[in-house]
Amino acid sequence: MTTIHVVCPHCAATNRIPLEKRATAANCGACHRALFEGHPVPVDAAAFEKHRRGNDIPVLVDVWAPWCGPAGRWRPCSSARRLNSSHMCGC
Ligand SMILES: [Zn+2]
Repeated sequence: MTTIHVVCPHCAATNRIPLEKRATAANCGACHRALFEGHPVPVDAAAFEKHRRGNDIPVLVDVWAPWCGPAGRWRPCSSARRLNSSHMCGC
């Protein structure tokens, strides 16, 4: 059985997921919450390092600051983006 490593967006535990298992059915072995909920996850620097180093899946990074005008205009767009669909944001 081939597995991939996926870091939990809730507790940052690294999980081994069989490739043949549907991503939407995968739950964390530590906190038992869904590994993929289809929306962005805010992280701090430590959690970002865990996701960057521990994931075998691509990690999409969107960096913004609340004091940044251009970043603030993009925030609603990136928050609404569904990561598990082929829908493209119309911004
Ligand atoms: Zn977890």
